[in-house]
Amino acid sequence: MKLRDLQRIVQEVNKARDLDGILRIIVREIHATLDVDATTVHLRDEERREFVMLYTEGLNRDVVGRIRLGEDEGLIGLVNERAEVVNLDDAMTHPRFKHVAEVMEESLHAFLGVPIIHQRKVLGVLVVQRREARRFGEDTVSFLVTLAAQLATAIAHARLSGGESVTRIRHSPREKFITGVGGSPGVAIGKAVVVYPEADLDAVPDRQVSDTRAEKRRFRAAVKAVRDDIHAIQKQLEDRLPEEERMLFEAYVLLLGSNTLVEGVIRRIGKGNWAQGALREVIAEHVARFEQLGDAYFRERADDIREIGRRILMKLQQTSGQKISYPRKTVLVGEEIGATQLAEVPVKHIVGVVSARGSISSHVAILARAMGIPAVMGAEDLDVGRIDDKELVVDGYQGRVYVEPSPVVRREYARLARQEDQLSKELEALRDEPARTPDGHEIKLMVNSGLLADLGPSAESGADGIGLYRTEFPFMVREAFPGENEQSAIYQQVLRVFHPRPVVLRTLDVGGDKPLPYFPFEEDNPFLGWRGIRLMLDHPEIFLTQLRAMLIASSHYGNARILFPMISDLNELDEALRLLNQAHCELIDEGIDVQRPQVGVMIEVPSAVYQSDALARRVDFLSIGSNDLTQYLLAVDRNNARVAKLYDALHPAVLRAILQVVAAGAENHTPVSVCGEMAGDPAAAILLLGMGIDSLSMSVASLPRIKWVIRSFTSAQARELLDQALEMEDAASIRSLANNALENAGLGGLVRAGR
Ligand code: PEP
Ligand code: MG
Repeated sequence: MKLRDLQRIVQEVNKARDLDGILRIIVREIHATLDVDATTVHLRDEERREFVMLYTEGLNRDVVGRIRLGEDEGLIGLVNERAEVVNLDDAMTHPRFKHVAEVMEESLHAFLGVPIIHQRKVLGVLVVQRREARRFGEDTVSFLVTLAAQLATAIAHARLSGGESVTRIRHSPREKFITGVGGSPGVAIGKAVVVYPEADLDAVPDRQVSDTRAEKRRFRAAVKAVRDDIHAIQKQLEDRLPEEERMLFEAYVLLLGSNTLVEGVIRRIGKGNWAQGALREVIAEHVARFEQLGDAYFRERADDIREIGRRILMKLQQTSGQKISYPRKTVLVGEEIGATQLAEVPVKHIVGVVSARGSISSHVAILARAMGIPAVMGAEDLDVGRIDDKELVVDGYQGRVYVEPSPVVRREYARLARQEDQLSKELEALRDEPARTPDGHEIKLMVNSGLLADLGPSAESGADGIGLYRTEFPFMVREAFPGENEQSAIYQQVLRVFHPRPVVLRTLDVGGDKPLPYFPFEEDNPFLGWRGIRLMLDHPEIFLTQLRAMLIASSHYGNARILFPMISDLNELDEALRLLNQAHCELIDEGIDVQRPQVGVMIEVPSAVYQSDALARRVDFLSIGSNDLTQYLLAVDRNNARVAKLYDALHPAVLRAILQVVAAGAENHTPVSVCGEMAGDPAAAILLLGMGIDSLSMSVASLPRIKWVIRSFTSAQARELLDQALEMEDAASIRSLANNALENAGLGGLVRAGR
């Protein structure tokens, strides 16, 4: 057994399109690779709390699907209970051995059971057996443990896919949804539209076409176009390339002419899949076949096939002609969804977002909240390749996605969605009311913005200003750093729309998860690397241009404030202030009459929390970036779905950090706001109110909801709740305490679907 065997099996399995295929391949391949007499896989039946034997090599096949063992029955039950490997020289003498005559395993002594575990839960058990009464060696154990760990996700995904095995392992109705984390509150019912990165063949989803003849023509045209390209390249390089290299192109041309490849795709299109999907399947099959041959020469041919596939895909993408047609109620689905992909969907068609990766503070979740549409992030078990055009229910509160929901679930969510609409309409009435507690304490509610498109709704929302204008979005959609005039024009537009209300312009915070296409760099740990103020201080020419543009904009309207992100050291702030001063003096010298705007610092790195006192003395306001602060305090990547459950701004450590910043602000008479997503979280808002926060800045969709919260709790009640929260030891307890308080005050509709 070698790494190569492992990789081969995993690749084969990843090609299978349903659970039956996966299980068949696993059992067959293990049996062929290991020196064993029987190989079996058992999967958990959620509904009946049993393990069902689903595939075997070496045991009696007639009993497949019929042999069922309780969760704690027999050796399978033992593997399940312990959630670890059971390795025995003689299974039959073990007290937990359960004899089932029909299985016909009497002659098999050695037993090795390996659990298949996904998200801490035993999904199934892989078993190999041998006649000889001798424990399995460590390398067999390691091989199977590694394989089971690698395949668990594929099995978990495929459990939702249908097929014979799936009907045998009914999972309980409670389980028929996919779980992620709530990325944006609300519920929606709509049709899935899958988006995927261009020129990535593996990411292409299946999609039904009705006019298969036209699709076949489109495919043949793409093949011809690739062949023409290659001929052209060959011609161009004729006397410059050695024979060997020219052969490579010859091989491409041969592949393009090969019947198995072209006709294979045509056949699949005939069955209704679109050209891209059919191409993905055929290329994957060819690649696997070559790789299986295990020889270096053939493995290289597999690379050639991949390359040909990629070239054809690119041609197909150019001719997909009609842009994606977005149904009236589109739920945008993807492994990872980019901000621009979201922006491409017409606003009135998009009702929800589901992303297999990312978490609550990924930028696409932030955008979804800004647009007021529900989002589920980190839905890792979503089978993105096979979900296009299916009906989905998105529950952004609980982080759930129902695929092709039953009529009962559908009806219930339709009812909840109506109630949500009703609630939103009622909350609109609060638009012109202040965010004042019943005992007269007022806090400012501001909006977060970053797109010119969302300025209108933000200005109309009754917000007291923009608490965070993320300047990176205009930078991200361009092809080079925008110049002073271009930037200043954007900032002026923002300042004008909100005038005389204040607008906090944050200086460029790229790096981390926000790369600029025209300024690429690779880092091992981008979130700990060259981002935000660090990058700007290293490039004063870019920083000064931005500062000047902000100051010029401010000279027209006077309502700008400037905010520095990612400050982790006082020297950084001092240097940023020096450059701001330089830009200011330059403009005065140039005859531009501009007042120095108020300046603030983001507190989003733990070191800044501990130095908030010194920071507060130097600036006019502090703004807590709870998204990054949570990430850095808890050491949990804000975009990583695997650890998303650990990411919660209500963690006691985060609350205590914020408390410390608020105290430093109060001592120095420096106002403190929260501008991370926490500010728009109703449960967090009460606690922040209890801390005496001066202002909260959030997405426009959250604003009416948070205003309702502030107007429903006295500061005394909020303080009391905060005291109770600070007694607690984990985020979940604090969240349920705050949610209960909301529920008891009649505001339950803010933290769950319905009223
Ligand atoms: C934050 O980190 O909380 C914040 C507001 O900034 P961003 O989400 O843009 O990193
Ligand atoms: Mg941040």
